[in-house]
Amino acid sequence: MGKVLIIGAGGVGTVVARKMASLPEVFTDIVLASRTKQKCDDIAAKTGGRIATAAVDAENVPQLAALINREKPDIVVNVALPYQDLTIMEACLQTGVSYLDTANYEPKDEAKFEYKWQWAFQERFKAAGLTAILGCGFDPGVTGIFTAYAAKHHFSEMQYLDIVDCNAGDHGKAFATNFNPEINIREVTQKGKYWKNGQWIETLPHEIHKPLNYPNIGPKESYLIYHEELESLVKNFPTLQQARFWMTFGQEYLTHLRVIQNIGMASIKPVLYQGVEIVPIQFLKAVLPNPGELGENYTGWTSIGCRISGLDKAGKPLTYYIYNNCSHQAAYSETGAQAVSYTTGVPAAIGAMLFLQGKWTKKGVCNVEEFDPDPFMDALNRLGLPWNEQFNTDLEMDY
Ligand code: NDP
Repeated sequence: MGKVLIIGAGGVGTVVARKMASLPEVFTDIVLASRTKQKCDDIAAKTGGRIATAAVDAENVPQLAALINREKPDIVVNVALPYQDLTIMEACLQTGVSYLDTANYEPKDEAKFEYKWQWAFQERFKAAGLTAILGCGFDPGVTGIFTAYAAKHHFSEMQYLDIVDCNAGDHGKAFATNFNPEINIREVTQKGKYWKNGQWIETLPHEIHKPLNYPNIGPKESYLIYHEELESLVKNFPTLQQARFWMTFGQEYLTHLRVIQNIGMASIKPVLYQGVEIVPIQFLKAVLPNPGELGENYTGWTSIGCRISGLDKAGKPLTYYIYNNCSHQAAYSETGAQAVSYTTGVPAAIGAMLFLQGKWTKKGVCNVEEFDPDPFMDALNRLGLPWNEQFNTDLEMDY
């Protein structure tokens, strides 16, 4: 049906490549490119020769454009780092190819999650008749699809949205992050922020927290943090009076994080060390466990979902909880990666599949909730991320 170029051969890239390779009727040709070609070759070796590989510096537009012109994919799937979003989008425009990613652009010198840089490409993608699918992992990604599905099938007016993200897994390490450590630590150490009555309310990092019950897991302390999909969801669903994001952290994780911050290792400002400029958080990444290799001994589950309240199609009050639970061990035995990489990589493969199948055709720069959620929801059930719904249960949220 179509050819795909995947950029990035980390934990998420591993899952995207393995999942796409298992769908030969959709992804007839797959090329995996990254900074370190060897990592692409290692992944390709596990897919029975279905994947070609290449080296590319995704911050170099001419290099990217040359690769895209040579391979001629129908879509580029960017699962490198958020720093590379703009260069990859630029190269896609120059070569006339559509684009998909799982995380919004961040400038390297400022930990700031905002869509404005990518939304600025809107007119150029539209004029070129190309599609850019933004944020097609789990969160952002499936959380936006869940919200769009709730709006389409259950609510006449959504008023309150709480995205709840629990990782109740145990990898047996004293401290490790579940995806790229630099991006992860930047995300969880920034100030909290949520939407209320038409404006953003800022909080100190981890200032607001409460125990929430996760299905088949139980109560876990959950912390209000800012997460990028809130920005597009309040824009695309303007009836939302409040939108928040909660993530669980264990005490050990938070203690390590506090020490890392207090001793300056979370800093993104370069320091001179023995005549060489190094960025402390990048050095820290080099000594922390590789998230892509946590899978083997990882036990337990992730549980991510949306808790929504408002008015149902008949105008009566409704509370609604839609979620997926994903097993680290099942993810590992299928793809060799843990559930955080799995829950990100599978939705990216599904988004690319719907594009190639002509089911997601909107042109321009679009967040996932702007597409029809139904074929995506079907594919989640078929491709390893089944979801569950609860109606009119206690959402444990105070409004
Ligand atoms: P990793 O660090 O494991 O992998 C990133 C990959 O990108 C590596 O292979 C790396 O190459 C490659 N890369 C980095 N810089 C460049 C460059 N300049 N040119 C080419 N390749 C480059 O990260 P993850 O797999 O954990 O995460 C991938 C993406 O997924 C991130 O953007 C992350 O934010 C996002 N994500 C999204 C989630 C969601 O639910 N939406 C959840 C989790 C992650 P090398 O190996 O040489 O360093």
